[in-house]
Amino acid sequence: MALSAAIAGGGLGGLAAATALALRGWEVTVLERQPALRASGSGIYIWENGLKVLGALGAAEAVLAEPFRGLAFEQRDSTNAVIDPGPLPADKRLVTVPRSVLLGALRDAALAAGVTVRTGAEVTGASAHGKLALASGETVRADLVVGADGVWSMCRRALGLELSHEQTVEGALRTLVPGTQADLGEDGRDRYIENWNGTRRLLITPISRSEIYLALTCPGSDSAGRQIPVDIASWAASFPHWAHLIGRIGPEVSWGLYSTIRVKSWSAGRAALIGDAAHAQPPNLGQGGGMAMQNGLALACHLEGVRDARDIPAALAAWEAAERELVDHCQKWSCLYGEATFLPDAVRARVVAAAMADPWVQGQVARAANSTPTGTGPETDPPLAPARAEAETA
Ligand SMILES: Cc1cc2nc3c(=O)[nH]c(=O)nc-3n(C[C@H](O)[C@H](O)[C@H](O)COP(=O)(O)OP(=O)(O)OC[C@H]3O[C@@H](n4cnc5c(N)ncnc54)[C@H](O)[C@@H]3O)c2cc1C
Repeated sequence: MALSAAIAGGGLGGLAAATALALRGWEVTVLERQPALRASGSGIYIWENGLKVLGALGAAEAVLAEPFRGLAFEQRDSTNAVIDPGPLPADKRLVTVPRSVLLGALRDAALAAGVTVRTGAEVTGASAHGKLALASGETVRADLVVGADGVWSMCRRALGLELSHEQTVEGALRTLVPGTQADLGEDGRDRYIENWNGTRRLLITPISRSEIYLALTCPGSDSAGRQIPVDIASWAASFPHWAHLIGRIGPEVSWGLYSTIRVKSWSAGRAALIGDAAHAQPPNLGQGGGMAMQNGLALACHLEGVRDARDIPAALAAWEAAERELVDHCQKWSCLYGEATFLPDAVRARVVAAAMADPWVQGQVARAANSTPTGTGPETDPPLAPARAEAETA
């Protein structure tokens, strides 16, 4: 008889784990508290490792249909001078898409694999014996339960696995504006551009041929900076070169601080935590979602040979032993990167330029992107998307 899994949370990690388990013969139910599976946030970076995972889940095609593929991740100082040109290797893809595209691709892959999705189902607790409690009073039993319920995970709390939940001093306003490559100027085409000025950052991310995702980062104490509606004049004064994009910001803006979550263990008995519930990290490396999906696939791979529910705890321990070091590494480097915010501009320019020119540092920052996620291999790799410049001239 097939083993069963009940997953709290239909975000990136929950849907990836659900699909990977269902593809391996599990009966899977996802319980999502929102009335529909819905992406929050604007755009998202998906590095090579995430694309490999999507390939293994059958979700790559939809994501790669019309992504923006940057050829460089460039950093600029307050005068708009380039600190680090950040060229991206041709054989390691980085694409950006609207979050709705990624979530939609994962949802479709999950449904195609036979996953049952229950929306409007708020999980209030989890037990190590394979139970999820719902706000409605219902109890859902399964051989395996998974807490993929994000930063404020009820499952993590109920299982008593939390070590720490720290919130960063800085947070981001996130929004989409209409825009094309022409808006980025000749020196801004085909790339992502991170601009620094004092403790403010403006990240410019094309996500399609007609939309640009803007992340405006500042400390929570910067009351003009974090204001909604966005204080256009204040941000345009910080980044005058990009005033034309900032001026297009509309009312659809979200603000949030970043969380760093550390847990004692990724599992307790027959209950596991994945994604932000287990290892949320600041978004500086653009790997929080990548790690959530990678971990979801790895979870299913480690459970592949299990036929008896009593063997699940040992498989979960093996999963954590194999996967956690990379995730912890990624979290550490993402936090470290964020520290650059608090350097004086001139010092930051020197530090970032020197660090990013160093092959060892580059290797640390790109380690997750360059990894081969468990459950992926050449046979599951999606086709290499053409670079934007090639695509446009084809
Ligand atoms: C500003 C910012 C930018 C980022 N940029 C990137 C990026 O470019 N690339 C990248 O890879 N990562 C990025 N991340 C990180 C990424 O968004 C997260 O790591 C990722 O969404 C984690 O996926 P998840 O499934 O664990 O959690 P979530 O995506 O948070 O999904 C959790 C799901 O659980 C549901 N849920 C919550 N509580 C309950 C409950 N009690 N019962 C039932 N359901 C519940 C929620 O509604 C949600 O659907 C960014 C994060 C931030 C804050």
